[in-house]
Amino acid sequence: MSATRNNVAVLGGGISGLVSAYRLLRQGNRVTLFEASDELGGLGGTFQHEGHSMEQFYHVMLNTDEHLLALLGELDLADEASWTETKMGFLYDKTLYPFNTPVDLLGFGGLSIAGRIRTAFGGAYIAKMLNDPKGLDQLSVSEWLEGIFGAEVFEQLWRPLLRAKFGDMYENVPAYWFWTRLRREKGSAKEVKGYVNGGYRRIADRLRTEIRRMGGVVRMRTPVYAIQDAPNAIQINAEGRWESFDTAVSTLPLPLLREISRGRLDQAIPQLKVPYQGVVNAVAILKKRLQPNYWNAIVQKGFPFQGLVETTHVVPMSQTGGRHLVYLLNYCGKDSETYRQVDGDIKFQAVKAMKAFNPKFAQEWVEDIKVFRAPYVEPVWPLGYLKDKPRMRCGSTRLYLATTAQCYPQVNSWNTMVGIANDVAARMQFDMDNIYNSEPRATEASPSLVHAG
Ligand SMILES: Cc1cc2nc3c(=O)[nH]c(=O)nc-3n(C[C@H](O)[C@H](O)[C@H](O)COP(=O)(O)OP(=O)(O)OC[C@H]3O[C@@H](n4cnc5c(N)ncnc54)[C@H](O)[C@@H]3O)c2cc1C
Repeated sequence: MSATRNNVAVLGGGISGLVSAYRLLRQGNRVTLFEASDELGGLGGTFQHEGHSMEQFYHVMLNTDEHLLALLGELDLADEASWTETKMGFLYDKTLYPFNTPVDLLGFGGLSIAGRIRTAFGGAYIAKMLNDPKGLDQLSVSEWLEGIFGAEVFEQLWRPLLRAKFGDMYENVPAYWFWTRLRREKGSAKEVKGYVNGGYRRIADRLRTEIRRMGGVVRMRTPVYAIQDAPNAIQINAEGRWESFDTAVSTLPLPLLREISRGRLDQAIPQLKVPYQGVVNAVAILKKRLQPNYWNAIVQKGFPFQGLVETTHVVPMSQTGGRHLVYLLNYCGKDSETYRQVDGDIKFQAVKAMKAFNPKFAQEWVEDIKVFRAPYVEPVWPLGYLKDKPRMRCGSTRLYLATTAQCYPQVNSWNTMVGIANDVAARMQFDMDNIYNSEPRATEASPSLVHAG
């Protein structure tokens, strides 16, 4: 623990902000967390249905999520995780194929026999690439996959999947991202997914309790409107006035941080040359189970969604009052037509799409359908991103970053963000102890304004 109690601001109350605040408090600092909305958890946010809390976007843990699992241990939540073996499917040419075992692959009608054999060998080859192949950062995923699997498998399988995730910008996504993704998903022989009793919201709530217990201030419904660099300080404008902090960490997507940054700070914030991917999804609350898989890729021309996830294969039915949750999703840019479709159209398409997964499905199964959008999920990673990846500290200012643009090559997940937040809190402490605390102090302790929550 540090000898000096620094006064630190945290921007954003998603998992990155919560873990940053928790660590900085444990290191002995004073912490104020600013959250714009009325809920903590960010993209892991929830909605209420008949007294049950349900996630706006599907979220599960993997048994390889080392940082998240370590955090659960610290928060006494490890025993509350349940693990379920899950299946994956492929909707291709109006048929739902299982896609889990070599036998499934042999029965997959979307490929010729030669294509199926090539897929099996290609998959085995990638699984054996144990060493971290950093060189793949410079190679496009399309070139890499086509080289391994051949033209037929690439056209029939991989190209539609890549387009589904990154739109037309997939061409330049590095193979390195894809390799780490495959390794995360297939980290163990069986596909097992985990859920903490109460969902990711439970983790956020427990972190909030810990933050409060250590004297941290959580200011809900308090968007930061402006942030600027000052001599030996960072200044934050929220609720119509400026406040000074010894240092700050932003967990906002970079385009949002740029919008609020002022003066010299604006130059210090990394400029990404690529857009962010957003997501729009319909959540159908059903009275019956729709289909057998947790996750389904949809490779069918003209189909209005790219993926269908039935989370109640992992989320216990006790959490939803016996209801089944089906997420129909499209990753897309926030300015795209898909993102801007009206909710009514998306709901109508969702009903039609579910019928394609189960001919017995009927409108009476539907209790409700909700639509949620997130404009900034992660950047569309460009070739060579390793060298452009934003650093922890913004230039020579006292602003630090723990944001999804730093995930690469890891997959954007709570696990990755917990790891990043841990590292940033440690780095901030190092700089506070070794650099800032030998400089004159420019800040007053932040007033304890607590708004809600
Ligand atoms: C469809 C989908 C599925 C996913 N599935 C999984 C999964 O299965 N497992 C998994 O682990 N991860 C999953 N993820 C990824 C996971 O959601 C993210 O990695 C994680 O939530 C990012 O957290 P964060 O705190 O960095 O950012 P965010 O969650 O985006 O949090 C940022 C916070 O900043 C706040 N904010 C914004 N502007 C301001 C401002 N001016 N002032 C104050 N506050 C502000 C926002 O309200 C928000 O609370 C999924 C994501 C999506 C979209």
